Parts: sequence; C-alpha cells; structure tokens
Amino acid sequence: MIHAELMPDELALGLLGRLRSLNGWQGHQRGMATSQLRDSLDAEGLATEGLSNADLLALAAGIPTAQFVRFHTLLPFRFVASDFGAHVPYGSPCSAGTEQVYGLALPTGRLFACRACASEDVGRWGFSWYRRSHQVPGLEWCERHRMTLSWIDDGDPSGELPHTWFERGGVREISVRTFALQCQKGALRRYLSVCSALLDRAAPADSRALNRKLMARASALGMGVDSEKHECKLKTAISAFADQHWLSAHFPDIQKGERLAETRLGRLLRDPRAVAQGADYGLVISLLYDDVDEAMDLLFGIRKRVGVSMSAARPDASRQPAQGELVMTS
Ligand SMILES: [Zn+2]
Repeated sequence: MIHAELMPDELALGLLGRLRSLNGWQGHQRGMATSQLRDSLDAEGLATEGLSNADLLALAAGIPTAQFVRFHTLLPFRFVASDFGAHVPYGSPCSAGTEQVYGLALPTGRLFACRACASEDVGRWGFSWYRRSHQVPGLEWCERHRMTLSWIDDGDPSGELPHTWFERGGVREISVRTFALQCQKGALRRYLSVCSALLDRAAPADSRALNRKLMARASALGMGVDSEKHECKLKTAISAFADQHWLSAHFPDIQKGERLAETRLGRLLRDPRAVAQGADYGLVISLLYDDVDEAMDLLFGIRKRVGVSMSAARPDASRQPAQGELVMTS
C-alpha cells in the first residue's frame, strides 16, 4: 500500500521523492516515478485515469487535491492572478491542466533546503523533507534558523532526501554576503512577508482588478512607467531595494538596463491584463507599500493573521502506522 503522511509545508516534488524512496523506486527519474505512482495506485484499485500529478500525490497522501495544491505546491505563488480563471480555487478540476504542467515545477529550477531543518527533521522524525517556503525566488535563507539555504547540485535533486545530500556533500550554499544584506534591508523583509502571504491563498485574484489597484497606488506615489519622471522615481526605489547581486540573480530583466516598461514588473504597472509570477508581484507590492498587512488586505482581502499557516496540522509523532503503511526510517 502506498502511503506517505504529508509533513508541514512539504513540497509536492519532495513528497514524490519520498514516495520513490519509500517504495524502492530509487534510480527512477521524476517522470518515471509519476507513472510508477499511477501504476501503484491503479494496482490498489484506485481510479487514476485523467488525474493530474497533483491529484495522484494528493491521493497517495490521503488528502483532497485542493488542500494539497494550496498548501504543498507553489501554484498559489506562480499563479497569483488570472484574467480568466480568477477565484477558481487552486486544485479544482477546472485548473487541472495548469497543475499538470506546473504542479511539480520549481520556480528557479533549483531545489533548496536548510541544513539545520534537515538535521532537526532527522532528529525528530527519522527523515527530512523539502519545504515549500524554501523555494520562493529571492528568499535565500531559512527564517526559522536564520541561516542561508543550500541548493542541491544534482540533475535529479529530489531523488534523495535533504539530509542525505548534506551528508554526501552534494549541496552548494548561497553566499553569506547576500544573507547579511537581506537581514538588514527593510524592503527585502517586506518582500519575504508578501511572498509568504501569497503562498497562503485559496484562489488566484482577478488580474485586472489587482493590476489597476497597483497602478493607482504607483500613480499616487508619483511612480510608474507612464513617464520618464515616474520611471526615474521607480528606478530609484528599486535601487534602494536590494543590492545589484540580488537583483541580477532574481530580476535579470531589470538589471539589463531595459526600459522598465518592457520588464515583467513594468508590464504589471501598465497592462491590466498582464499576469506575472509571485516574485514580480512580491517586488511591486514591497516597493509600493510599507505596511504588508495593509497591502495584503487592500489587494487580496487577506486580513492580518497571527503567524503564517504553511500547512495542514502537524502529523502526530505518536500515531501508529496503519496496517500495510510504509513508514520512513531514515
Ligand atoms: Zn531551517
């Protein structure tokens, strides 16, 4: 029987890696592992025809797809807004095509992990897992441990669990210099808060309504891409936001010296139909608002909450495995 209880904030791709390990699919690349997962669920008599990868993983984890997609994939971050599917919950059958394509994809193409998280996970649970909140572009450190993240330097990074890569030395650390800068800069702290809030939404916003609000806010601040004067002020705000190294790593189009109007960020401020990813919305919102809670309420109707809920309830460490259930023992 295939089963893997989801861990807090566990990334979908990481769960697939854990299922590979649990079921002895070691050596199978990701695409093969999803077919193997489908075959195994079929063999259990579960109907898998027409199901997306996210559906299959949710089925293996024993939770509804919508809950899985909302709390364990980066879809809420990748699809902040939509011009045709606004308010359709992430993980609903209507958006299955998108999940099939993007449900397991990594925004930066790299898989990140925190050495201290991996070590703590092994100490408490006997194994480690990849966290969704560590995969946000531009977030280069673990909030919990205040240390830089590492990325897995391998063509099949989710093929092993984080602690195994750390033991083998198959990781590369992000520069400490950037980490020090990130801790100091207020705007970057806002970017992190905005991105965390974007991860925790149930459905995409209406891009036209959202972009118009951002345009109005930019205009009120005398910033934007509609005139040279406004663009100059926006450029100054971006330069003060983070150092050149961070900007060129995460927003290369801005660093190329192009007209801001032609960048992804600029399009959001001139085209109500433009749809961008979470990083772009995160940057624009952190540039235009000082108070993140107020911004998220005004733009998305997200009221201030105590803490950020990253996942469903934490699994019960004392729970006994069900009969036939496979349990990871590091
Ligand atoms: Zn950590």
